[in-house]
Amino acid sequence: MKAKEKIAYLKGLMAGLKPRDEDDQKLLLALVDVADSLAEELEEQQRALEEQGEVIEEVADYCDQLEDDMSRLEERFDDLVGDSVDETGMEPLPCDDDEEEFSSVSCPHCDLTFFCRPDVLDPDEELECPGCGETFPFDKTSA
Ligand SMILES: [Zn+2]
Repeated sequence: MKAKEKIAYLKGLMAGLKPRDEDDQKLLLALVDVADSLAEELEEQQRALEEQGEVIEEVADYCDQLEDDMSRLEERFDDLVGDSVDETGMEPLPCDDDEEEFSSVSCPHCDLTFFCRPDVLDPDEELECPGCGETFPFDKTSA
């Protein structure tokens, strides 16, 4: 039985009783009135708690939704940048031995074929033949 129902029952009992004197009746009525007010306040707080519970549920749902959105964003972010960042987060070294580009060059003076690296060569720099020591301009189109 809820507090309010108990108070209603109490009121009913009092109505059926014949109080010994008026003062007793006044006191009892005042006590029931206090109990009534307390029950009323309790109900209000109950309602407030239920409302807060609903708000908390809504916030929790919203957080779940945010978490899902974040996961999706993270996946998309990984898709977008995953190719350019390896697992260590380091960019590959610019000078990997396997990736050095050598070009074979034939000396126009002695026909010696040797290798040079056009990527480290100045555009205006001339090649020096290791065979005859003559210099000649590097022609990229023949490389
Ligand atoms: Zn030469």
